[in-house]
Amino acid sequence: MAFILRAFSGGADGVIICSCWPGECHYVPEGNYNAVSMMNLTRKLLGHIGINPERLRLQWVTASEGIQFAQIVTDFTAKVKDLGPLGTSEGMDENELKSKLQEVTKLIPYIKIVKREKLLLHLDNVEEYNNLYTSDEIESLFSEIPSYYIDPEKCRACGTCRRRCPVEAIDGDKNLIHIIDQEKCIKCGTCLASCPPRFGAVKKLVGESVPPPIPEEKRTIVRKKKEG
Ligand code: SF4
Ligand code: SF4
Repeated sequence: MAFILRAFSGGADGVIICSCWPGECHYVPEGNYNAVSMMNLTRKLLGHIGINPERLRLQWVTASEGIQFAQIVTDFTAKVKDLGPLGTSEGMDENELKSKLQEVTKLIPYIKIVKREKLLLHLDNVEEYNNLYTSDEIESLFSEIPSYYIDPEKCRACGTCRRRCPVEAIDGDKNLIHIIDQEKCIKCGTCLASCPPRFGAVKKLVGESVPPPIPEEKRTIVRKKKEG
């Protein structure tokens, strides 16, 4: 998904992914089934942000099908020419297109986590993948984007969430209340799952804004010295 969005962000008017036929891969038999699911999801996401999904095509063609490959590329090129330049044909100016593509690109890790079960489904009939993601589902993906927040009143600076965060989005130290950098956070939820229940300091927020971070001068935790 990231490669596709990068191609569109880089100015491609169309993207075609070619793969061997389902069941014919010698190396990773699940790969092209996963690709169908990913393509369907990506097409729905493109549609959601106002980009014509026909700009993205998945095509089965093996290395021995040279003539077919040439025809497929010729057809797709003609199709993309018909669709016109990306963005302006959709009624978007350059900045709007860029910001919409950036918005989805930033959400890729979150989307892949939320949709991981469907993305890994193996359906023998590839046509069934077409109905895998409903419009409501795609809509809720965007309307239910969570944010994670550390409650400064509850954080005891144990460091567990900071060590487990996969993208180093959490700032903190031994005696410093931890803070999540919302720009770096990929919304994986690991901090929520890893904060010890006796602290319960991480909150998942949906549909509400994240409170501003605690001021630096108030972040230090003064611990009582152990007696004896
Ligand atoms: S949700 Fe994931 S990425 Fe965001 S701060 Fe928590 S652990 Fe890090
Ligand atoms: S795991 Fe919980 S208590 Fe520990 S540093 Fe993170 S938010 Fe604070």
